[in-house]
Amino acid sequence: MKMIDKHNLFYEMQESLSQADCPVCLLTGEALDSFVEGILYDKISDHGFRDALVKSRGFCSKHAWRLQAEGNPLAHTLIYVHFLEELLLAGDCLPQIGAEPGASTAPRDMKAVLKKLRAEAACPLCIYQEELEERYIRSLLNFLQDPVFSAKYAVSSGVCRPHFLRIQKTFCPRDIKRLIIKVFFNTAQALFLELEEIKRKADYRFAREATGTERDAWVRVIGFWNGTL
Ligand SMILES: [Zn+2]
Ligand SMILES: [Zn+2]
Repeated sequence: MKMIDKHNLFYEMQESLSQADCPVCLLTGEALDSFVEGILYDKISDHGFRDALVKSRGFCSKHAWRLQAEGNPLAHTLIYVHFLEELLLAGDCLPQIGAEPGASTAPRDMKAVLKKLRAEAACPLCIYQEELEERYIRSLLNFLQDPVFSAKYAVSSGVCRPHFLRIQKTFCPRDIKRLIIKVFFNTAQALFLELEEIKRKADYRFAREATGTERDAWVRVIGFWNGTL
């Protein structure tokens, strides 16, 4: 076995295996959270980031709202006032400060307007998320060569469906791929049985039975099927 550098990420990912969620989703989500915080405080004044943001016309809907949840009205104002100004200039209808909105005529040059509305690049957070997922999938496959890590993985819930699919397209040793498939099916079976139990108890004849560990299985199966990102 290759020597594996036991750096922080190794232990962090090993630690995450004790949770019900996919380790790739968990670590990507955490890294994305700290990146999102940074965007509103310092990334926004970074020229490279601003250029990317101008090209993508901002964020995709999911990431725009993720950022909004961080608050910071001024940072959002600075991002969006720029987009609105560009749009209104393209339509030749930038209002005077203090004027009533709607006083000017509709834009004549719709071609210029549409050019300002359409994104020329993908959402920067989607691009970053993609890089993180790739990095963590590769780390996971690498760490699985370690026997202690791999024993922990064997009894964990493993990866979600989207990351399982990505791993199928990634090169890795056959025994590691086999372990990932085995854990994936173990989790699918366990969830199936828990959901069947929820269905059974939904029947009024059994409704008085105390709910067991399956009570949050309907939430866990959403994470298994879609990931938690
Ligand atoms: Zn995942
Ligand atoms: Zn996005």
